[in-house]
Amino acid sequence: MEKITVFPGSFDPVTRGHESIIRRALPLFDKIIIGVGENGEKKSFFPVERRVAWLNQIFGNEPKIRILTYTGLTIDLCRRKNARFILRGLRTSADFEFERSIGQVNKLMYPEIDTVFLLSAPEYASVSSSIVRDIIRNGGDVKQFVPEGIIF
Ligand code: ADP
Repeated sequence: MEKITVFPGSFDPVTRGHESIIRRALPLFDKIIIGVGENGEKKSFFPVERRVAWLNQIFGNEPKIRILTYTGLTIDLCRRKNARFILRGLRTSADFEFERSIGQVNKLMYPEIDTVFLLSAPEYASVSSSIVRDIIRNGGDVKQFVPEGIIF
């Protein structure tokens, strides 16, 4: 059976932290579906089209990776795509606590699913989309925090 994982997130915008998790997960799975969540209630900073375009720019040539947008529950996307794994990155103990409850509730709702965590690479442990957005809002340079070639 193909090992398919969903990497869900807002990617608002994509950072080197996301890129690192995805590249490190490539040898572990046959297919990685990057699911860009469209949450009606949460207004994003960048429109979904731009967030998807950046991901395509970075990963478009990688045969194991698919990029799509979704609304609703991540486990429902997993069911539709036959994915048995959800991939998440862990930076801090706060990430862990948050992820633990979501991962365990997902397991109760969809027992076939397992959440796989990769620890953040140490150099990216402090990188987050929200910090990158703050720097952009205030006119700073985010080059070192976002993947090569991403321009705002
Ligand atoms: P969400 O809004 O679902 O948290 P994000 O786009 O912020 O979406 O993050 C998607 C995933 O990427 C999450 O699992 C998050 O923990 C992980 N992630 C984000 N930044 C980093 C980083 N610097 N290092 C490792 N994982 C990260």
